[in-house]
Amino acid sequence: MKTKRMLFKMAILVMVFTLSACSEKQNDEDLANSDNTEAKSLNGSTAVQVLSLTETDSLGLIFMREEEKLARDAYLVLFSKYNHQVFDNISQSEQVHTDAILRLLNYYNLDDPFIDVIGEFNDPSLAELFNDLMILGDINLDSALVVGALIEETDIEDIANLASKTEVQNIIQVYGNLISGSENHLRAFVKDLSNRGIDYQPRILPADQFNDIINNQN
Ligand code: ZN
Ligand code: ZN
Repeated sequence: MKTKRMLFKMAILVMVFTLSACSEKQNDEDLANSDNTEAKSLNGSTAVQVLSLTETDSLGLIFMREEEKLARDAYLVLFSKYNHQVFDNISQSEQVHTDAILRLLNYYNLDDPFIDVIGEFNDPSLAELFNDLMILGDINLDSALVVGALIEETDIEDIANLASKTEVQNIIQVYGNLISGSENHLRAFVKDLSNRGIDYQPRILPADQFNDIINNQN
């Protein structure tokens, strides 16, 4: 995941630079995509035989617990700054996501890395990423929506990577739900940017995969 993080960091820096040059726009769109169906589907994945996990599985769950928190924290901060509804809706969905990982951590008797303070993380790479994202998101609402799209692209990439390395059914199921949630979120941010006249191009995902996600409304 290291290379992806570097790419991500570079993408952020390029965008901070680009967006700093743009003027702030003030036309709020009524973007209110709710994620209730996703919240329900994440609850259906528990009764399975307890296995001992591989180190990759364990570390992956611990990492994703905090990466989902990073998404939640970012959207909470951006909602309080811009009062833009999409951030409120999606932050609630991210709470559901991080809680779904918590259930797996508990199920497999793994320590929960969660720090109950917005913007604080046990994993220093996530703390740094959060700070970089908040610098970008602070510029204007457009840049904040780009932060949303970047976070969702990263989530999809990281979760799919972890899902491909595990054989454990309840983990695969939760990861599958998280990926479809992230795809919904990515569509919401990209649509919102498009309504504001910005054609968002993928920074993390391959173009074909990104286009498939954007064009698939399921
Ligand atoms: Zn999520
Ligand atoms: Zn998300």
